Amino acid sequence: MTGKRAREKSLENEEDNIFWVKSEGEKRLATINLVPGNQVYREKLVKIDDEEFRIWDPYRSKLGAAIMNGLEILPIVRKSNVLYLGVSTGTTASHVSDIVGPSGIVFAVEHSSRVARDFLERVASFRSNIVPILQDARSPKEYFSVYGPVDVVYVDIAQPDQTEIAILNCKTYLKKGGYMMLVIKTRSIDVTREPAQVMRSEAKKLSANFEIVQEINLEPYEGDHGMIVAKYLG
Ligand code: SAM
Repeated sequence: MTGKRAREKSLENEEDNIFWVKSEGEKRLATINLVPGNQVYREKLVKIDDEEFRIWDPYRSKLGAAIMNGLEILPIVRKSNVLYLGVSTGTTASHVSDIVGPSGIVFAVEHSSRVARDFLERVASFRSNIVPILQDARSPKEYFSVYGPVDVVYVDIAQPDQTEIAILNCKTYLKKGGYMMLVIKTRSIDVTREPAQVMRSEAKKLSANFEIVQEINLEPYEGDHGMIVAKYLG
């Protein structure tokens, strides 16, 4: 098999389930397709021996962009339980579903019913490890299908108060010692401030309950976006 573990490049966790696969003469980020033959966003499928890999486009996925830009810890691993806020049509969530595999779970929250319908039809209905939740992330107590504490809360909702929403969700569902991955759309928080300044002030809001593990700029894959990875201290 020529698929290689991504940790060879930057990640170190044994349970990582992401790969570098040779496609069109280049090494590309990929996950093993949980639903062989099924595409989510017309991504390329590459068969190597008896495994099918889905090429993960970092220009279409901020988690993919973070990995390309040197993410040091990917807390989403095989068997993880992930609460994903702002799942949209499922581009990134589908790769998270591949990574956690059949023994993990992705609780997928989206508040727009139009987008959620698309997500259900094209992604969640094919993937038994996804639990779709049509709710507003501002009201985490209303997600009746989330059971038990989760290992990771992944947040990509592009709201001015996204950090406060993220903290509330972590306090409700994240296990102590678990991780939050928070995508910051700097311009949706404050267009008048420098992106680095916005990142710093959002990270500061986390200081009471989290240890900041890494702040990553997502350029050139996503302009005006960054990601904060933080460990929940409870
Ligand atoms: N994470 C997606 C991906 O990588 O494929 C893209 C997410 S898109 C930038 C943001 C999504 O968050 C939109 O689909 C939007 O409807 C959703 N959203 C925004 N505010 C929300 C809220 N309060 N509750 C739930 N979903 C929300």
